[in-house]
Amino acid sequence: MTIQINDPLELPRHPLLASSQKTVLVPTMGALHAGHLALTKKAREIAGTEGTTIVSIFVNPLQFDNPADLENYPLQLERDLQLCQNEGVDLVFAPNQSDLYSPDHSVIITESLLSSNLCGASRAGHFDGVLTIVLKLFNLTRPHYSIFGKKDFQQLALIERMVRDLNVPTQIIAHPTIREEDGLAMSSRNVRLSPQQRSDAPRIINALEQGARLSSKASITPQDILDLTRSLLLKDSRKDFSIDYLELVNANDLQTAQDLQSPCILATACIYDQVRLIDHIEIPGSTDTTKQ
Ligand code: AMP
Repeated sequence: MTIQINDPLELPRHPLLASSQKTVLVPTMGALHAGHLALTKKAREIAGTEGTTIVSIFVNPLQFDNPADLENYPLQLERDLQLCQNEGVDLVFAPNQSDLYSPDHSVIITESLLSSNLCGASRAGHFDGVLTIVLKLFNLTRPHYSIFGKKDFQQLALIERMVRDLNVPTQIIAHPTIREEDGLAMSSRNVRLSPQQRSDAPRIINALEQGARLSSKASITPQDILDLTRSLLLKDSRKDFSIDYLELVNANDLQTAQDLQSPCILATACIYDQVRLIDHIEIPGSTDTTKQ
């Protein structure tokens, strides 16, 4: 049975956490889909039958730079609880905003390198909000393992950096991106797309894949890949479609890639009306011997 806890004061003292030898945390903002559920399955696998799996569900106001995005974020706690129950999750932590943030809270976590471009550049303060809530969740649940999706690869890189730099005693597990059959990365935001936008949206991963494929050809530069990908993203696109950013960055520090020798990430955020979708593809470096 899944136990729901809302009170952050109660959570660390709950016997399922206090006495757990293997706690596995999956932080989410709810509106759970098969991508999230793949993470909870992984959590159960790691925790085994003796360990404790915990899913947090909290739409963190601190990480929203756009009030309309926060307001429109889908909420479906009852359904989420049922899904967690079906997955055999032990604890669901679903706090209220006011229980987690004092009205005069004044401490936040800030990162200064990996957060400087991609979503960090276009969403002011977003990653400060992410890191702050994730550290709060780590403090409240003291997880031995924490699972994050590669879909949000910049978030994942920042959390790994925070864990390293602040000596947080948890092991981060990266889970591959789960996609719809047509390739669209699963996201809680997908339900906000109109049917027409939804059927158009696989253009994002298709363009990234074709752009990335170019990297295997001789004498190709990062700019060639960006140019091709941009033209594919925009080819016969809808009037309500726009590109927020399209960048090619080094996989290790997420700074703009100057060449294709080391592993890179081709990443984009695209917008349909008000709905912002992110996706990316990894490009192995030309000096990488595993390259096909
Ligand atoms: P969110 O609720 O969007 O904050 O996501 C919660 C966690 O689920 C994050 O670690 C995400 O990276 C992960 N996640 C969301 N969508 C997917 C997906 N399609 N595949 C894998 N992980 C995902």
